[in-house]
Amino acid sequence: MTSQSLRTHAQAAAKNAYSPYSKAHVGCALLTSDGSLYTGCNIENASYGGTICAERVAILKAVSDKKMKITKLYVFTKEGWPPCGMCRQVMSEFADDNLEVIIGNEAGHETKMKFKELMPLSFTPDHLVP
Ligand code: ZN
Repeated sequence: MTSQSLRTHAQAAAKNAYSPYSKAHVGCALLTSDGSLYTGCNIENASYGGTICAERVAILKAVSDKKMKITKLYVFTKEGWPPCGMCRQVMSEFADDNLEVIIGNEAGHETKMKFKELMPLSFTPDHLVP
């Protein structure tokens, strides 16, 4: 699947955001190692702590289907916001350094990078394996 197609899915997912507090609309579309597509949007909560980002929604949807490896991820916001630290940590659990991450904004600007550039020296499951 092309980056442009992923962008279309991420942008569509952003429209489903439940964000009555921040009013931010974030969408994520990702591919897993078998080529499956998953999308997610940010879902806020009045407790704030119960809020979850679009990236983690998409990742957890994939993992709940036993799709354990993410190979390409597109995150879309109007402004082009990068993934937060917590989402980067969750990515490190289900991707490797070569995960392709694309950050896109409404104006069409895209930033592309490998996961190792987005989160160098990440803490991974390898650190816990003896
Ligand atoms: Zn996040």
